[in-house]
Amino acid sequence: MIAAAPIRRLSQVVADAIAAGEVIERPASVLKELVENALDADASRIDIVIEGGGLVRIVVADDGTGIAADDLGLAVERHATSKIAVARDIAGVRTLGFRGEALASIAAVSELHLTTRSRGSTGGASLHVRNGEVLSRAAAASGPGTRVEVCELFAASPARLRFLRSVATEGSAAVRVAADLAITHPGVAFTCTNDGRMVLRTAGGTLREALRAVIGTRADRDLLDIHAPGPIAVGGAISSPHAHRASRSGLVLIVNNRLVHNRALLAAVDESYRGLIPGGRHGYGVVTVEVSGEAVDVNVHPAKREVRFSDERAVFSAVQRACWATLRAAPALGADGHVPSGFADVMLEVRDGDLDVLGRPATRLPLQSGSLRAPLVVTAGDTVTTADPSQTLQAMEALGQAGSGFLVATAGDTVVLVDPHAAHEKVLYSDLLERWRRPTPDAAGAQLLLMPVVVECGPDTASRVAAEHDFFSRCGFTIEQFGPGAVRCTAVPMSAADADPEVLVGELLEGLDQRDAGTEERRHRLAALVACHAAVRFGDRLDVAAQQRLLDQLMATPGGTTCPHGRPSVLILDDTVLRRAFRRPPR
Ligand code: ADP
Ligand code: MG
Repeated sequence: MIAAAPIRRLSQVVADAIAAGEVIERPASVLKELVENALDADASRIDIVIEGGGLVRIVVADDGTGIAADDLGLAVERHATSKIAVARDIAGVRTLGFRGEALASIAAVSELHLTTRSRGSTGGASLHVRNGEVLSRAAAASGPGTRVEVCELFAASPARLRFLRSVATEGSAAVRVAADLAITHPGVAFTCTNDGRMVLRTAGGTLREALRAVIGTRADRDLLDIHAPGPIAVGGAISSPHAHRASRSGLVLIVNNRLVHNRALLAAVDESYRGLIPGGRHGYGVVTVEVSGEAVDVNVHPAKREVRFSDERAVFSAVQRACWATLRAAPALGADGHVPSGFADVMLEVRDGDLDVLGRPATRLPLQSGSLRAPLVVTAGDTVTTADPSQTLQAMEALGQAGSGFLVATAGDTVVLVDPHAAHEKVLYSDLLERWRRPTPDAAGAQLLLMPVVVECGPDTASRVAAEHDFFSRCGFTIEQFGPGAVRCTAVPMSAADADPEVLVGELLEGLDQRDAGTEERRHRLAALVACHAAVRFGDRLDVAAQQRLLDQLMATPGGTTCPHGRPSVLILDDTVLRRAFRRPPR
């Protein structure tokens, strides 16, 4: 068990070596510093109270090492810390704090009560500071650990108060910090109440357990574990391609057990979703990175929010590769027998909110032999089953388009709804990849452009175009280097004849630019991109013949039940589901 370490004043030299700056900007920053202190003190449980957005009261109580009574005064002095002694300790520091500033800064702008009992000692001690002035110090009864109560934050600093947002916003920012730290330290049991309401409770267990407690069971179901050990080890769990959000804020980055903001790494995660989820949407979850202490500098930001890597590029590509592998290994929709949350929503709507229907055992669709492999079958249970690949759905018959353009079809006694864009995309995508695998190139699928498209892209990308020449020409493109920093496109795949060639080529070049993507990954992306451009648009009206052609093509496409981005393309409502929805007894 770790005991309380003595607190020392840092020498001026060491203090000057620390990235200085005001760390206490708002209630959330107070909470962060207090919780980090508790974590540094080896706490196994941390209980947090937030009142009035944190401006009225913040309490953080822990069961950690505590502070020796003799050190209590030093704890609230600037540049006094138990965590480092000399400047070189900063490099490779593993504790969250090391500057010895936080308690002093908080005590300077609030009324602070600190009660503590250090491990091994029998009595506790307490300290009362108001706006930087120590009002009292006394022996006190206390359980083991430390309780810090911060009241009336910024009450005497009207300038600060002016920069704050509403009480509700400050409160939820503080809760967010608590939740992020709970995820960052899943082994610690956290509770947090906000104005008396319990908003966070983790039990102290695995990362997934903490995540589930924080983001909810529903969102957790859509997470895929990342497992990429190595000198730059990447772990955590991120949302699978069918679950995405409008904002990036659902993604937490943890580097060496430290919650960080790092644009480059966020971009690395985003890039691994490229082509898998719609533009402007983001994955959520947690990405953890473990590197040796020397490879990361935490002393670059006053609130330690940012870190710098000695080799950022290597970390970037490790993260991207790990996320990419995770997302690609995602089971085809429904293949693991669980309903992705999107579908659960659909089914809930279908059933008019009748949650009761979920969770009943699944039944299967009658299947005949054919070629649509692993069709997605939404059954009356909380499961999506995939049929045996050797069996298939009966031939589909187009009935028309409904809603914002969905194809409605029947297959035996089953109703099938198809997203025409997603379905067409999948058909085209499979066709492109298939073309690429053929032993001899086949240029029949190409459409010459009346006006060749020239794109300035820089020498780097231009040479990459040259390297992928074979892939492009097999897909039906004629793209060649055109001068040192540009490419010229004179033909596109027949299927993409209607797409805007300039936009298409521009995006292809972007796809080629993906840092450190493997060949397979790049080609998958390029094919998905072309397919997306060439496919009928979502709202397009199709005549019945075109609808039927699309359904037939879909039947002939392996894995036709999801689009190349992993979104579902087909929703199969079997008779059992329909009967249940209409409250008809099962057959
Ligand atoms: P730092 O964390 O950078 O050392 P702080 O001002 O946050 O600086 O804290 C000063 C010192 O007070 C810490 O080094 C630690 O010794 C002690 N301390 C603060 N909070 C706690 C706590 N919850 N449990 C044990 N010791 C604490
Ligand atoms: Mg601290």
